[in-house]
Amino acid sequence: MAPANPGIGGLSQSYDVVIVGGGQAGITLASRLTEDKSINVLVIEAGEANLGDQLIMTPALATQMFGKDKYDWHFQTEPQVFGPPYHFR
Ligand SMILES: Cc1cc2nc3c(=O)[nH]c(=O)nc-3n(C[C@H](O)[C@H](O)[C@H](O)COP(=O)(O)OP(=O)(O)OC[C@H]3O[C@@H](n4cnc5c(N)ncnc54)[C@H](O)[C@@H]3O)c2cc1C
Repeated sequence: MAPANPGIGGLSQSYDVVIVGGGQAGITLASRLTEDKSINVLVIEAGEANLGDQLIMTPALATQMFGKDKYDWHFQTEPQVFGPPYHFR
């Protein structure tokens, strides 16, 4: 039976909640919201899934992600008055 509300590429035409960003907060929120099966949630994520990626799964390798386009949006903070003598790139 065809879905009642078919959208493009398996997407629905409407959602109750749209979450922009599938990071820790976005996915946690989506997971909690969809515990109620009556709520339709769409998560829009700009990055790759990176499932099983050892650089992400291995805490000791975390610094190797800095500066790599696959992992790093290259946003910078302002230099921090009370922070370390560097700011994240
Ligand atoms: C190298 C590294 C190691 C870390 N290790 C730890 C750790 O061991 N333990 C710990 O507790 N914390 C750790 N942190 C911190 C932790 O990752 C962050 O505090 C946490 O991910 C923040 O969650 P968030 O949901 O706010 O943002 P994020 O998890 O960054 O999620 C934001 C998401 O939004 C997406 N996004 C951005 N703009 C758009 C857009 N326009 N459209 C669609 N999607 C968009 C991004 O791609 C991203 O997936 C680490 C951080 C880094 C950088």
